[in-house]
Amino acid sequence: MKIMVAVKRVIDYAVKIRVKADKSGVETQNVKMSMNPFCEIALEEALRIKEAGLASEVVAVTMGPKQSIDTLRTGLAMGADRGIHVEATGDLFPLAVAKLFKALVEIEKPGLIILGKQAIDNDCNQTGQMVAGLLGWPQGTFASKVVLDKEKQEVMVDREVDGGLETVCLNLPAVITTDLRLNQPRYATLPNIMKAKSKPVKKYTPEELNVATKSDLEVVEVTEPPKRKAGVLVSSVDELIDKLKNEAHVI
Ligand code: AMP
Repeated sequence: MKIMVAVKRVIDYAVKIRVKADKSGVETQNVKMSMNPFCEIALEEALRIKEAGLASEVVAVTMGPKQSIDTLRTGLAMGADRGIHVEATGDLFPLAVAKLFKALVEIEKPGLIILGKQAIDNDCNQTGQMVAGLLGWPQGTFASKVVLDKEKQEVMVDREVDGGLETVCLNLPAVITTDLRLNQPRYATLPNIMKAKSKPVKKYTPEELNVATKSDLEVVEVTEPPKRKAGVLVSSVDELIDKLKNEAHVI
């Protein structure tokens, strides 16, 4: 069984985000970019399934500009067998990404697709659900535990839901999206980074996959959140209680 894993290139989680002067988006020029953290978890899970002898190949897929190849190479250095890069410029919204995944699934025929639960740049949390919807496959979103049964061709997924865990059993082929507690992703070692350079990467354009990426969604404006007011240091508990009572009116 082949596992397809989504790996998105996003602004590194540790970078302080700056909004562009014209409010059309956030600054990405000269900013450190990395693999979306939830995608690292997705790839780690796919690699563990393969290492347990339950899958034959892990294919990492990225969609985005030329530079997305770096994210793919990171995925290959972590252990993916090969990569697919759908090179596309401009904003790619979840529905377009999901349609591109569907087109690739028709070519690659994976038994399982693992995506991050959300991309930390747009926080959409939609793509995995849309991929499952377009393919008509079962989905286990926000996974914190994944147990695959090769004989029965099913996968048990513990989902992190409000107030606890929900366990769902999905028939393969299926779509899983990963939550934070599923695993601790591995680091790519130097020898593996070198090896990744010679692993195969197939390139497509959206046109070759017959997918129109133009969205009917338009980002109108991106603005920074309002600045927080400076705090006040109080000298005693009595003063604190007085301020809470008479200034903030919260007690
Ligand atoms: P989103 O719905 O945009 O929050 O993204 C959810 C997940 O879909 C991400 O964590 C990725 O695994 C996958 N994904 C979204 N956009 C892309 C992309 N351009 N390339 C590869 N994977 C993507």
